[in-house]
Amino acid sequence: MSIKLEHVNYIYGEGTAYEKHALKDINLEIPDGQFLGIIGHTGSGKSTLIQHLNGLIKATSGVIYYSGENIYAEGYSMKELRSHVGLVFQYPEYQLFEENVLSDVCFGPKNLGLSEEEVKMRSLEALHQVGLKEKYYDKSPFDLSGGQKRRVAIAGILAMHPEVLILDEPTAGLDPKGRDDILDQIAKLHKERGITVILVSHSMEDVAKYVDRIIVMDHGCMKFDGEPKKVFEHYKELESIGLSAPQVTYVMQDLKEKGFDVDVHAITVEEA
Ligand code: ADP
Repeated sequence: MSIKLEHVNYIYGEGTAYEKHALKDINLEIPDGQFLGIIGHTGSGKSTLIQHLNGLIKATSGVIYYSGENIYAEGYSMKELRSHVGLVFQYPEYQLFEENVLSDVCFGPKNLGLSEEEVKMRSLEALHQVGLKEKYYDKSPFDLSGGQKRRVAIAGILAMHPEVLILDEPTAGLDPKGRDDILDQIAKLHKERGITVILVSHSMEDVAKYVDRIIVMDHGCMKFDGEPKKVFEHYKELESIGLSAPQVTYVMQDLKEKGFDVDVHAITVEEA
């Protein structure tokens, strides 16, 4: 289902000494099935932006459409919107609280009014999708490693069968292996289930490898929007706002100078 933002502004603490214009005139359309990366330095507005997409934050001005419907229209159900647009917060493992892994994953779908059987089936399927082994299902989430806990938290959202999955820095604090594992699983889900995935990260390398499109946020504005290849062409400006992907951009630049046509996204190199 497509998401569309028209002239969205958001101001924290409007009219107070702490006023902060966190989103500035955001116009954006995210088509169904896209794998979108949102990057930007800390404080650029990424979290504020994604919290608008499932209605957790209401725009100070502007309109958001989900599947063509204005989510701010009278009578529009935010509860339903949240069941379609699943948001995995940063460090979601801090929100695990049930006594075992399976119960934790069941928590979300239970609130959808499904039968107990359906809830369990969805939860088992979601745990399988995030690649957590069965032997952990009856363990306390607190006994798991950081990466495993995060998988449980992601499974809890997946079990709600969202049409759009938003992940805020899903690899923060994980070691390189844990990071690759989680991103590979997410990419697999996107490919197999065709769900829209929105991945927020401050790491260009993380997003470059997976996404169809990158949005670069800077001081509340959308600075760049396009295919990774196109966005990386602005590598000098990206560096000037604190975003660098040396392995990708420098290698790409080096190859370009040698006369190759470089497609960073596909990670293929062809002679021009
Ligand atoms: P990012 O996710 O890119 O780090 P955020 O969306 O969290 O950025 O923040 C955007 C701006 O809004 C920052 O300047 C931040 O300090 C400010 N901000 C975020 N949350 C709040 C809040 N609850 N109250 C006031 N200002 C906030």
